[in-house]
Amino acid sequence: MPNVANCRKCGTLFIQNGKKELCDKCIDAQNKMIADMNSYVINSPAETLTIDELLTKFQMSRKEFENLYFAGKFVRVAKKLTTKCAKCGKEILIEGSSNFLCNECAKKLQNQI
Ligand SMILES: [Zn+2]
Ligand SMILES: [Zn+2]
Repeated sequence: MPNVANCRKCGTLFIQNGKKELCDKCIDAQNKMIADMNSYVINSPAETLTIDELLTKFQMSRKEFENLYFAGKFVRVAKKLTTKCAKCGKEILIEGSSNFLCNECAKKLQNQI
């Protein structure tokens, strides 16, 4: 028996393959949005963009962006995106940052473990 689940985004019932949380329609829409966001950043004349700017433009939540980012959807543009360190507020590039923390805060956190 295939698993049936409600799409996390639009609520439609769909047949769940593995751990998918969205229906095919929403996955298509999401993939298109990711492609649009990537090309928006790539084509922007600015040297860097903040994540907030991008999220406002595409009306995506921070949480959703982080999930997609950690799923590797923005690898190509990570070197052009900046955010504020979640701990100290310093402006950092998201490429190479761990969990959106600056190097110092990431190091401090590591030393605490
Ligand atoms: Zn859906
Ligand atoms: Zn920091």
